[in-house]
Amino acid sequence: MSKKQAHTLEQLIEKISTYIDDKDELERIRKAYLLAEKKYNGYFRKSGEPYVEHGIEVAVILTTVYADIPTIIAGLLHDVLKITDDGLDEIKETIGKEATTLLNGVTKLGRINFSTENDYLIEYYKKIIVGMSEDVRVIIIKLADKLHSMRTLWALSEESQKQIAKETLEIFAPIAHHLGIHKIKSELEDLSLRYLKPDVFYDIAEKLNNTKVERDNTVNDMLNSVDLLLSEHNIKHDIKGRAKSIYSIYNKLNKGKKFSDIYDLLALRIIVNTEQDCYLALGLIHSKFRPIPKRFKDYVAMPKANMYQSLHTTVFGLNGYLFEIQIRTKQMDEIAENGIASHWAYKEHKEVSTQLKNTTEQKLQFFKAIIDLNNDKMSSEEFVNSVKDEVLNNNIYVFTPKGDVFELTKGATPIDFAYKVHTKIGESMVGAIVNGSIVPLDYELQDNDIVKINTNKNSLGPSKEWINIAKSTQTKNKIRTFFTKNEKEINIERGKDSLEKELRKRKIAYHDFYTPKNIECLKKNFKVESLEELELNIGNGKLQTNSVINVIFKSESKEEKVKKIVVKPVDADIIVAGIDKVKVNLAACCSPIPGDEIIGYITKGNGITVHRSNCHNLAFLENRTLPVIWNDTVNKRYITTIVVHSNTMENNLLDIIQHINMSDAPTDRVNCVKQDNNAIYELDIYVRNVEHLDKIFKELNKLTYATKIERIIR
Ligand code: MN
Repeated sequence: MSKKQAHTLEQLIEKISTYIDDKDELERIRKAYLLAEKKYNGYFRKSGEPYVEHGIEVAVILTTVYADIPTIIAGLLHDVLKITDDGLDEIKETIGKEATTLLNGVTKLGRINFSTENDYLIEYYKKIIVGMSEDVRVIIIKLADKLHSMRTLWALSEESQKQIAKETLEIFAPIAHHLGIHKIKSELEDLSLRYLKPDVFYDIAEKLNNTKVERDNTVNDMLNSVDLLLSEHNIKHDIKGRAKSIYSIYNKLNKGKKFSDIYDLLALRIIVNTEQDCYLALGLIHSKFRPIPKRFKDYVAMPKANMYQSLHTTVFGLNGYLFEIQIRTKQMDEIAENGIASHWAYKEHKEVSTQLKNTTEQKLQFFKAIIDLNNDKMSSEEFVNSVKDEVLNNNIYVFTPKGDVFELTKGATPIDFAYKVHTKIGESMVGAIVNGSIVPLDYELQDNDIVKINTNKNSLGPSKEWINIAKSTQTKNKIRTFFTKNEKEINIERGKDSLEKELRKRKIAYHDFYTPKNIECLKKNFKVESLEELELNIGNGKLQTNSVINVIFKSESKEEKVKKIVVKPVDADIIVAGIDKVKVNLAACCSPIPGDEIIGYITKGNGITVHRSNCHNLAFLENRTLPVIWNDTVNKRYITTIVVHSNTMENNLLDIIQHINMSDAPTDRVNCVKQDNNAIYELDIYVRNVEHLDKIFKELNKLTYATKIERIIR
């Protein structure tokens, strides 16, 4: 195999300067390079090249994911400490503290002693997870290192090739996938397949090659046709023909498909400017090319857990070929290719960057939780299985009845789902309905299932049997906790959960909140001795989560929210932050009226539903809410439901309706339930706002037989 010419220092600097233009920063790269050259001097890799070239190639790979300067420096030098520990002070002085910390992190990953294969895996996973929870950049350097090693794997013996390829496919490609770095994941998979199953790899490659001319022509024709279609409708776009990776084809063949039937051999990717354009483009394409049913996926409205967003569809294209088409914005494309790494590229776009930081942090929390599990006397085998299952393997996606998506381990049960939504939901669960039918608790959830959990406030909690039924270690652990912890501990945990959930919702990074200074401030403010005591008070309901966070991060007042929203004269009832024209529905469960505190919920393809902020149905809906306010300039009537309890069996319905009518509120639907010596009247009435409703309540309170009048939330 021919050896590719290595990159030079100047070429590396040129690549970095496409996204970092600070001269001093680039100078640091030169210094680090000189140090690397000195340290690696006299060392060669098995492939024959001077060791320093490996450092440069790793650094070049890091530039493709827009790594920052300390990461690239640590990449350049990543094997230096493997050669010798000497001169650590010199290194630190030359490259600075941040890069040295990263370098130490990568070096720790490399040093593993193992006896059996299983021990080795355990050690390895632990190191990766620990490394990841310390600084995710360490893992990205490791991935770049692995990628370059795989590119030069031909220099090793066949036995080593196979072993390294297997390890790459089992550990590193899934980690790249988990972090959303598709670019690196895909190349690692193709390279692994090439060494693990060379016959299969070359067979697919040859078949692709044989049909290349014909396919290229077809792709070009289709590309031109779609290009024309979108241009005619003034949608600015970029289209690329897209090669499917050999590994993805292999995977499909493996599932029993024939080469000739693999749908997505031909593929296009369309990049447009806005989310709206994604859907417009999709509509146009479907109007011209017939889509294949059930092959459409909307990851724009429902992003994958690694933040991937795109529309996918397969259509009958030109010349009878099937085309898999992906439609996304530039930003979505960036995140699809570089995942977590793309927060470097988006530093200037604060919102995207915060979102990525937040997702990363949640992931890291998750990894930390697994390490904690491990310390919690879990057997080594359980540990490896739990990491494999929950972190590295393919997951399924299931929905709540409202369309919220949750990612679960394959084989997960309704119990896992309930606990994933919220520990409280899990603990008060009494049954589950999947796709409209009642299922047993050990039912194995399938991709795209719609799951409703029935709960009962008076439930006595989970049964011990559930530990065996639940699939994920996280769930099992939560159930065990229920049986082992006392109430105080449970409340502390609840409080902590609730606090962290609200921080995520408000997009506040944990480390910005839990600073020593903030904790001092909270302790003073709420007169508690420790953070734990504060969490306990949240958990047992003495303190409101929001009021705790507000001490540190003031929530915006209604007025500030209004100011932020550019208010053009609108005739809509509700003003949604940042969005001009959107379909808005008032939720039927809590029927909000002007004056109520409200919150918007982004539905799956049906605009925004507005709930009262105390509506219990919102518990299911978090993470998809956004601030909304009433438009005070609209003068309209709104339907809401009230209940009048009476202490007589007499029919007072007419009397009640008349009183409501006198207060200028038409009544719509009525429902009357009689039991024992009481009657309950439920009425839908049309009111202007909260003050209007108050007036009606005052009026009804005058009725001698009325014992209680209330609004309800279904
Ligand atoms: Mn290396």
